[in-house]
Amino acid sequence: MLRDEDRIFRNLYGTDDWRLAGARRRGIWDNTKELIERGRDKIIDEVKKSDLRGRGGAGFPTGLKWSFMPKQSDGRPAYLVVNADESEPGTCKDREILRFDPHMLIEGCLVAGFAMGTVATYIYIRGEFYSEAIHLQAAIDEAYAAGLIGKNACGTGYNHDVYLHRGAGAYICGEETAQLESLEGKKGQPRLKPPFPAAVGLYGCPTTVNNVETIAVGPTILRRGADWWLKIGRPKNTGTKIFCISGHVNKPCNVEEEMGIPLKELIEKHAGGVRGGWDNLLAIIPGGSSVPLLPKSICDTVLMDFDSLREVKSGLGTAAVIVMDKSTDVIAAIARLSHFYMHESCGQCTPCREGTGWMWRVMERMVKGNASIEEIASLEDVTKQIEGHTICALGDAAAWPIQGLIRHFRPLLEQRINDYRGRTAKAAE
Ligand code: SF4
Repeated sequence: MLRDEDRIFRNLYGTDDWRLAGARRRGIWDNTKELIERGRDKIIDEVKKSDLRGRGGAGFPTGLKWSFMPKQSDGRPAYLVVNADESEPGTCKDREILRFDPHMLIEGCLVAGFAMGTVATYIYIRGEFYSEAIHLQAAIDEAYAAGLIGKNACGTGYNHDVYLHRGAGAYICGEETAQLESLEGKKGQPRLKPPFPAAVGLYGCPTTVNNVETIAVGPTILRRGADWWLKIGRPKNTGTKIFCISGHVNKPCNVEEEMGIPLKELIEKHAGGVRGGWDNLLAIIPGGSSVPLLPKSICDTVLMDFDSLREVKSGLGTAAVIVMDKSTDVIAAIARLSHFYMHESCGQCTPCREGTGWMWRVMERMVKGNASIEEIASLEDVTKQIEGHTICALGDAAAWPIQGLIRHFRPLLEQRINDYRGRTAKAAE
């Protein structure tokens, strides 16, 4: 359980002033100049030592990612892009940082941007985040006016601009290279990799794309030290994390907790428990809609971190915990997600463009039971044909929820099909 003094996000619920004065009271922009004066290498080394992993879903080590940026300029400017396109179903954590603590993010942009030798940050914010964009732009303006960013930021001699760019409602623009395309004014479609953005990113220049939460926690880790961060959570799964708990719980909420907290404790302590009690639980999607759901038997004991959830063939993803009690038609729930991925596929590669539609159509029939038992295996086979065979991870994201359903709820699918057969046979008599 996270101690109160270890909490990083002090205004997660908007109870305090989000503007510069309030941010300063919470310790944001405190000695930022000294942090920067440590130098690029020391900052990256400290972030590496902390084992901070990206909070956008993939969990890639942040310090390592920062170290991929070129040390010497070849004449091209380098950029930091902050992915604030939060669109993963169930996820609403970055939104709270953007609207209630925007200066945390802006300070993080300056420090991370300096560590990677960038000249500017582009924050790509989800188009629907209207009031969040207003808060963030107001905070950026305040930071410029106070000399915290821009020319000679914080009196360090380092120049760093921060630009806000609003998206237009495409889920795929949360994929880092689609986001770069969109920023460049093109259709938001993922790029083939390599080259990776650190070599050829925004406008053909070295670029790192990081999630909002990842960037926002950076200055606090540097101030308090990697050793402090390492004491929270579990090895390789360190620090605090914002979890978004929704669905059939008594008190849906966002909460900052330590990595590795047991899933059951997270829900009972912060979300008022499952509606009707823990025994009324059917399944949980532990990390946003792109990771496989888990049945109650696994939810009883699993820990909420990258590696523990991978061991049970799911994932931490964005840490959006979607709770389904026994009243849920879990087949219909996964079919709805299939429709989402079909709709959001950019259509660029065949397995995803054709496969997402195919899976959704079969899932729609599975909801009614209008399928054959053999089709369960053929549906699973199609998910395997899509997984790992597409340009970006949306193909995997479409395949994994169905794989989870078949892995854990195959008897339910079979029962639905048998019931349908029984009903139609009776009607034909
Ligand atoms: Fe587009 Fe889907 Fe291919 Fe990603 S996997 S590039 S979303 S078609």
